[in-house]
Amino acid sequence: MNDSKCAISLREVNRTFDDFVAVRDLSLNIADGEFFSLIGPSGCGKTTTLRMLAGLDSPTSGSIEVHGKDMVGVPPYRRPINTVFQNYALFPHLTVGENVAFGLRERKTERREMARRVGEILELVHLPGKEKRRPRELSGGQQQRVALARALVLKPEVLLLDEPLGALDLKLRRSMQGLMKEIQREVGITFVYVTHDQEEAFSMSSRIGIMNRGILEQVDTPQAVYRRPASAFVADFVGASNHVTVEVLSVAGTRYRVAAPTIGTVDCDGVDGIASGSTAAMVVRPELISIVDSGTGASLSGTIRDVSYNGPTVDYLVETGLGTFAIKTDGQRLASIDSSVGITWPASACWLVPMPSELSANETSEEATSA
Ligand code: ATP
Repeated sequence: MNDSKCAISLREVNRTFDDFVAVRDLSLNIADGEFFSLIGPSGCGKTTTLRMLAGLDSPTSGSIEVHGKDMVGVPPYRRPINTVFQNYALFPHLTVGENVAFGLRERKTERREMARRVGEILELVHLPGKEKRRPRELSGGQQQRVALARALVLKPEVLLLDEPLGALDLKLRRSMQGLMKEIQREVGITFVYVTHDQEEAFSMSSRIGIMNRGILEQVDTPQAVYRRPASAFVADFVGASNHVTVEVLSVAGTRYRVAAPTIGTVDCDGVDGIASGSTAAMVVRPELISIVDSGTGASLSGTIRDVSYNGPTVDYLVETGLGTFAIKTDGQRLASIDSSVGITWPASACWLVPMPSELSANETSEEATSA
């Protein structure tokens, strides 16, 4: 990434709390104007990373730059960054207009300019004319939009958002995602968004970083993360996946020939650097598997153990000699529980990842800390 296009640059950032490594060797560039999301399970280090960007916490080692300026040691209020948290933290005694104008007032912005900017930004977050309301007179979604307006009105170079929709119900959350995306496109400010919700991150972001136990395992577009996960962990975190343990017979770049028990030899693509002769995990997404009549040249035979009807799709769990497979079908072909079926998928549906290690270094340290 060209330096002038780089809004945020983290280099080998570590954050330890006593012996526990919350963030390990994290290096990442985020482009100017990008909608970037950090996702991962609870405790993986997302908030710690965001807090270091905001200046609310400091790295134990490593560097953080915003538009080429070193941020380590710079207090939060001197950084060109604003943060929107899950709890909106609006001032209850101030009106919406006063809440949004708060930062502008601190900066001694001229009255008319202040009124103009507050009006404009409330328009942007779809709350025109709500200046005189108090926060308690607004719904949760409206309050979060005020919090967003309050942060955006100061025109930060970077906006950090820590689970901003976490307190909203699912329907409101989904409609706010659309608005969030629209606002980001409109203002062009770099957004760094933290969420547990993989679907939320996928629907809004240009790129996603997936963290696991303090380590940034993959950074890529939503499509690439889904189709070409860097690890078994990423494959599982970003949607359901089925894994078959295979032996790698030969390697040509990122093209592999593998031997899968019962299935036989498969040629498939995968993550770079898996060695010939090693054991690896072949990942197959549920929607790429078909259910066929048993004994018709299927990849595997099995028994249907569960069926869930979800409107446009039907999900199955099929027990096979290689474990239970999750399968998502278009619902055209129905099969009932306990029936014997075949399951099959094309070689192009397979993606090879390294075998997950039993214990990462960090898990060892977390367990040691909590023991
Ligand atoms: P969540 O999604 O639940 O908010 P997260 O991915 O944001 O989780 P962090 O809050 O960054 O996770 O925490 C990462 C790890 O660091 C956790 O195990 C947490 O307990 C630990 N941690 C965070 N802050 C501190 C602290 N001040 N002292 C000790 N440990 C901490």
